[in-house]
Amino acid sequence: MNMRFELADAKTVGITGHVRPDGDCVGSVMGLYNYIKKNMPNIEVDVYLEQPGKEFYYIKNLDKIKPIADETKEYDVFIVLDCSDIERIKPFAQCFLNAKKTICIDHHASNSNNAFANNNLVMPNSSSSCEVLYGTLEEDEIDKDIAECIYTGIIHDTGVFKYSCTSDITMAIAGKLMAKGIDYSDIIDNSFYKKTYIQNQILGRALLESILFYDKKCIYSAIYKKDMEFYGVDGKQLGGIIEQLRLTEGVEVAIFLYETGMNEFKVSMRSKKYINVSSIAVHFGGGGHVRAAGITMQGTVHDIINNIGAQLELQFSAIDK
Ligand code: 5GP
Ligand code: MN
Repeated sequence: MNMRFELADAKTVGITGHVRPDGDCVGSVMGLYNYIKKNMPNIEVDVYLEQPGKEFYYIKNLDKIKPIADETKEYDVFIVLDCSDIERIKPFAQCFLNAKKTICIDHHASNSNNAFANNNLVMPNSSSSCEVLYGTLEEDEIDKDIAECIYTGIIHDTGVFKYSCTSDITMAIAGKLMAKGIDYSDIIDNSFYKKTYIQNQILGRALLESILFYDKKCIYSAIYKKDMEFYGVDGKQLGGIIEQLRLTEGVEVAIFLYETGMNEFKVSMRSKKYINVSSIAVHFGGGGHVRAAGITMQGTVHDIINNIGAQLELQFSAIDK
């Protein structure tokens, strides 16, 4: 796919990404927005997204994000990034449905049998949607601001170049982006590793209360609404907890849950080497990647861990055979 070709006849373009946008979602959505703004000034472009976390403050034009859809608008092209399921662009789904042409740029394996746009570029072997997006852009039209966005997505979805989704292509692209003059150290520190004092406290608490199960091959921890209220944090500030759980010695699967409503939890799952957490998430109506997936589930923590545990057991016992 070539973005210039796709937008050749477009006068109006809308862009969005998934609910609870992470670094790859913010990076790809804003990377494309800034690319169109800079290189195709005749196109009227709107960007729709849930408010990104404070750690993405350095991304250019973040203040141009519209949090509420203009449902009367009929875009010539509407582009969805980093999203495997139309359900996950819900607040802006009407813009998608109204559009004359729709495009999806993504890298979720769970998107493959679910292609929901007119034109789908889904590359499950790519580290990030930012990596997929990069391949659709002209290298010489990428400036420092656009490079910062794309680099952000790549470091977030690769855990700073260490998850198995990182390839030599990922590294080559990162190198090209570095050559645009970005402050890569600052981007990594400020958007990925930096935690507030409160975030560290709640991380400590989640670790303290974590529980090993299935012969210490799995670990989970949950944060309840009352705790989030006590610390004054929302879901956006709980990033990094799952990552620390995953690093526990001997653990193959980490699960982190936080309460989003009455008997409702946002569940994150990560695996290290062989368990496919995406298929478990898909089984319960969520999605993601083989080593990182998520889902919203109903029930108590006990119910949810029991239900996921049964699926994990199926995979573990198939491997043990
Ligand atoms: P996280 O655990 O960081 O929220 O998400 C891990 C991966 O799973 C990301 O690629 C994210 O897009 C995907 N994911 C998380 N929650 C959901 C969900 O409820 N539905 C789907 N389809 N994917 C999800
Ligand atoms: Mn992604």
